[in-house]
Amino acid sequence: MALLQISEPGQTPDPHQRRIAVGIDLGTTHSLVAAVRHGVPECLPDEQGRVILPSVVRYLGNGQGSGRQIGFDALAAQAEDPHNTISSVKRLMGRKLADLQAQGVAAQLPYEVVDGPGMAAVRTVAGDKSPVEVSAEILATLRFRAEDTFDDDLFGAVITVPAYFDDAQRQATKDAAQMAGLNVLRLINEPTAAAIAYGLDQGSEGVYAVYDLGGGTFDVSILRLTRGVFEVMATGGDSALGGDDYDRALAEWALQRSGLGVSTADLSTTERAHLLAEARRVKEALSAHAESGETVTLSTNVRGQPLAVDIRHADFADATQALTQRTMAAVRRVLRDARLDKSDIQGVVMVGGSTRMPVVRQAVREHFGQEPLTNLNPDEVVALGAAVQANQLAGNNPDGELLLLDVIPLSLGIETMGGLVERIVPRNTTIPTALAQDFTTFKDGQTALALHVVQGERDLVADCRSLARFELRGIPPMAAGAARIRVTFTVDADGLLTVTAREQGTGVEARIDVKPSYGLSDEQIAAMLQDSFATAQQDMQARALVEARVEAERMLDATHSALAADGDLLNGEERAAIDGLMQALAAARELTDAGAIEAATEALAKGTEPFAAMRMNRSIAQALAGQNVENL
Ligand code: AMP
Repeated sequence: MALLQISEPGQTPDPHQRRIAVGIDLGTTHSLVAAVRHGVPECLPDEQGRVILPSVVRYLGNGQGSGRQIGFDALAAQAEDPHNTISSVKRLMGRKLADLQAQGVAAQLPYEVVDGPGMAAVRTVAGDKSPVEVSAEILATLRFRAEDTFDDDLFGAVITVPAYFDDAQRQATKDAAQMAGLNVLRLINEPTAAAIAYGLDQGSEGVYAVYDLGGGTFDVSILRLTRGVFEVMATGGDSALGGDDYDRALAEWALQRSGLGVSTADLSTTERAHLLAEARRVKEALSAHAESGETVTLSTNVRGQPLAVDIRHADFADATQALTQRTMAAVRRVLRDARLDKSDIQGVVMVGGSTRMPVVRQAVREHFGQEPLTNLNPDEVVALGAAVQANQLAGNNPDGELLLLDVIPLSLGIETMGGLVERIVPRNTTIPTALAQDFTTFKDGQTALALHVVQGERDLVADCRSLARFELRGIPPMAAGAARIRVTFTVDADGLLTVTAREQGTGVEARIDVKPSYGLSDEQIAAMLQDSFATAQQDMQARALVEARVEAERMLDATHSALAADGDLLNGEERAAIDGLMQALAAARELTDAGAIEAATEALAKGTEPFAAMRMNRSIAQALAGQNVENL
């Protein structure tokens, strides 16, 4: 759990006491686990020496041993037992059945997807299985592999997720890890992990591209490196484009070349499967012989007759050119999204087995005008980068330095009107981070803003911990609500918080530095969290009351100023009616019934509508006075 990762200055663990931390690439088709050993990251093999674990889980009916198979065994049984063998479960993580149906994902899967608690589930002989549970089986298998390798318990794991994963998908991944008994040190984005594996985080600041072409998907991400931290600037790609499409294109080309007048669609399921497997073999063999001009023979059966076609690398390039072009079109799109030119890219990282293809490397090289990074195994690079990060987070850096804080243990925010807390940095946000929110003034002509920085999960300032107070002065006088004041919370890698408030129009600025975690023990943090869970309901009511009172006051203030400026527009009766509504609201504001206050505010708002219309007419008339029609 994240709270355990916090270490106060002076409590750095003994550097000789190494903690075992692993990186896990939890992939759609397969997963890997890696760790830094003797200073070098490497993928950990299973007992048979295989580093890859197919991300497949098969559930067995009653009385069949342990009830499930995981990895290669499950994969081997997929054809025979498709309904109980779950592959590609990553596509279901954190997704509701309706979303999957809308995207057409549910229909593509060989098993039955049903509604489940919080997200879709898979119906199997062993009952409905949540994607979280299925992913937990895969993660636990990798955890045991690592524990067997080191003959020790794991301190924690860094798990990678696609850059485009939303909060629900990330949370589902964390839940799966917890279920698998893993302490999640951090979730990191897959492209970020790949960049870390190449040590780019140690290099010069700038913008990098990650080109990830796997078996079935293509992702491209643009990362910006600042002060050793990557930020994803843009992502793009094609979720239905990968190495499998190259196999299909080559198979189709070979059939055409044979002159038999058949296409893959005319073949039986068995012949088609054999042809595609053969096309894949030829593709991979040609990757190795691109330069030599050698041919590779594709041998298969078409309608029971043997067929052999000699294929050169140039043929393969022709047959698949359109696919490679599609990936490059996505690259151009994502650069446009990030408002960058290809010349802004400082380096290109290649990820995924399909980036072994020379045609792909050539297209990337030509587009960016530089050699892409390919010397690490493209299937392993994400897991390797995650392992490097895990090793750092576990405090195993060669210089013995431990990252003091890697998540914000309690939310950070500021006090707003009525003693309410507006959270700006939610708890568990990884650091370093910078988050901003815009605020405005409450009163007409207000030229200063008092900022009160607080920490905690409760809605009322009184129940949170006060960290600092400062003031922003020199705001030009404006009507209430017209000023735009951007408050930015920046937390650096050492957990140092800087809060900046800046009035956007004039640029006047004030700032303060705070050390947010200082002085809070793990027990205190745990107690504050416990408190916030226990009092959530009470807090909601208190917040509603305060919000209703603030709104009432705002309404009363606005009506007072309007009456002072344009009260002469009203006749005696109209004025008396408004005064009555104001008195009623002032009285309601003293009550503790949020509903009653809201009703009185609403009544005043409605009752002053005709007055507002009169004021509007007057100001339009004033604006037009003395103007020539042609100037308008
Ligand atoms: P991944 O999902 O990243 O494991 O990618 C697997 C894809 O990489 C499959 O389509 C493989 O055919 C492809 N692949 C693996 N090795 C090679 C290679 N040497 N040449 C071309 N494609 C390869």
